[in-house]
Amino acid sequence: MIPYGRQNIDKNDIAAVLEVLQSDFLTQGPKVPEFELAVSQYCQVNYAIAANSATSALHIACLALGVTAGDIVWTSPISFVASANCALYCGAKIDFVDVDPHNGLMSVAALEQKLQHAANKQQLPKVIIPVHLAGHSCDMESIAALCQKYQIKIIEDASHAIGSTYKGMPVGHCQYSDICVFSFHPVKIITTAEGGMALTNDTALAAQMQLHRSHGITRDPLDMTEPSHGPWYYQQIELGLNYRLTELQAALGHSQLQRLSQFLAARQQAVTHYQQLLQDLPLQLPTAATDGVSAWHLYIIRLDNPDHRLRVFEALRAAGIGVNVHYIPIHTQPYYQQLGFQWGDFPGAEFFYSKIISLPMYADLTLPMQQKVATALTKAFTACSEQQMTQQDLPA
Ligand SMILES: *Cc1c(COP(=O)(O)O)cnc(C)c1O
Repeated sequence: MIPYGRQNIDKNDIAAVLEVLQSDFLTQGPKVPEFELAVSQYCQVNYAIAANSATSALHIACLALGVTAGDIVWTSPISFVASANCALYCGAKIDFVDVDPHNGLMSVAALEQKLQHAANKQQLPKVIIPVHLAGHSCDMESIAALCQKYQIKIIEDASHAIGSTYKGMPVGHCQYSDICVFSFHPVKIITTAEGGMALTNDTALAAQMQLHRSHGITRDPLDMTEPSHGPWYYQQIELGLNYRLTELQAALGHSQLQRLSQFLAARQQAVTHYQQLLQDLPLQLPTAATDGVSAWHLYIIRLDNPDHRLRVFEALRAAGIGVNVHYIPIHTQPYYQQLGFQWGDFPGAEFFYSKIISLPMYADLTLPMQQKVATALTKAFTACSEQQMTQQDLPA
């Protein structure tokens, strides 16, 4: 089976992890700060806080921004559920901004309209979480301008987008957001097995995220409510969590980061090959963002005819190709329906969902594998159109 995504682990990655295993620290040693520093330098941002997943990073990002019961958070319905769950963990209410049905990214027009409506009802969100689907940055300049007008904070869910750029700067630079979050799950651009990171330029937000990542405990006398009792002393000043990344994971991530540009080039190469191989099929190819470079986490095609999606999908799986769908609109998940959302709430997202298939996309994908994908797709479409013709031939 050719999977839709997978990690690339080399000898250096293995050596980096082995070295940690034989060292003094398996957790809370030097590797996590080293990895954080390397990512912050890559993204040209002041602070990077590693966590044991992007889900955890999104949670501490919301906590740092003070999201709590009574607050409202908005995100994109075309995302992984974690983009929305983080608000619910804080006791806040979640709502969604519909997407552009051509690319699945948060629609600025929909956002503007929803903000006006919410302002009239005095129900503005505290935080908005745009999602850089597939690695393509949202229109952050416009989103940030709208959020500034209404005094709303921004967390970029850049789980797909380490290595992407926007207007000439790396995603993660936080020029248009308060916090930006990466995921290091194995299908993402670089991996730590499980892992994530929250980036910010704001000193206070960085401190809050660090606190929430590790039990709400501080060892900094400046943050304490009374003088230290001695060198052993710490204080718990918030109800924090244990969301720490291990030293093994940080060493793996740091090693992977050295090869990020190689991974990006390989993904870009695969995009070029798909463009050549798939150009004559009844589908729309994903287009790169115009104001940046995508890391191409996902390669999402849109079928001209949504009625063919299931059969094309099944044919690809039967041919040993691990296609997937990114994403089932979050508001249609049973848990979210229980909260009051329904099919029909976000037509752009539902339309996008009806047509999409994610083809294999990862650094080790080879041209012969992509040719196999193209052949299977061509066969599947031929079968669809033949069946359509026989159906038309049948008497009414
Ligand atoms: C993968 C992903 C997450 C969650 O990442 P984990 O590291 O698995 O917790 C969140 N948001 C998006 C958009 C993702 O793709």
